[in-house]
Amino acid sequence: LANRMFHPEDSVINVSGVKVGGHEKIVVIGGPCSVEGETMICDIAQEVKAAGGVMLRGGAYKPRTSPYAFQGMGTEGVLAMVKAREKTGLPIVSELMSADKIDEFVEHVDLIQVGARNMQNFDLLKALGKVNKPVLLKRGLANTIEEWIMAAEYIMAGGNKNVILCERGIRTFEKYTRNTLDLSVVPIIKERTHLPIIIDPSHATGDWKLVEAMSLAAIAAGADGLIIEVHSCPECAWSDGAQSLKPAKFASLIEKGRAIAQVV
Ligand code: PEP
Ligand code: MN
Repeated sequence: LANRMFHPEDSVINVSGVKVGGHEKIVVIGGPCSVEGETMICDIAQEVKAAGGVMLRGGAYKPRTSPYAFQGMGTEGVLAMVKAREKTGLPIVSELMSADKIDEFVEHVDLIQVGARNMQNFDLLKALGKVNKPVLLKRGLANTIEEWIMAAEYIMAGGNKNVILCERGIRTFEKYTRNTLDLSVVPIIKERTHLPIIIDPSHATGDWKLVEAMSLAAIAAGADGLIIEVHSCPECAWSDGAQSLKPAKFASLIEKGRAIAQVV
């Protein structure tokens, strides 16, 4: 169902009015790794919007390596995202970790993220196949492009054709970066599938200093969008501060992107 052969034209996924894919403008999604409170997320949402971002990201259920690390605000975090949407009009993106919260996400979230660690959680993918909401499917930490496309196929086979793919870097032997950004997926995914592909340079590099260069490269490579971690005080962030951009840097990145292609 994802195969370009049987669907030559690009799919355009409508996320509560924001169109992703096709020859629409390149979308830029910004926001913190984790929602840290209602005021916090509303403030960042305003900054993301002022910079030109068209969607807000924020994790409420967090897949953390350590069970002792902050696990996310849960429902309270989702409701804080809803408040931020009310204040700014930005559609919201958040990660669903397990199918038992699917109703909450269908009710409140505009774009449901499947994180890298759940790319092959087939029960979760099947459950998402049954809902009528766009899904942002991240590539697994150590998954091939074929496995990733098949994960999208799981969602689409259930009837939900609204899938956006997201490359967020893969595990390699390299230690200078958190992951290795595989930008070759952009032309490969475009050749093999009709689905939109967006790039997450934050998780791909783990280092805010590398985010701008990789974002501009992604735009040049033909990506349909970017999802970038933004925090007003990266040093104080509850998760992923080291890879988060301050709002001013996020704004200047969008400006530079506009010199390359049609960005938001
Ligand atoms: C995230 O987007 O905050 C996240 C945990 O991403 P990934 O699943 O790509 O690690
Ligand atoms: Mn993160």
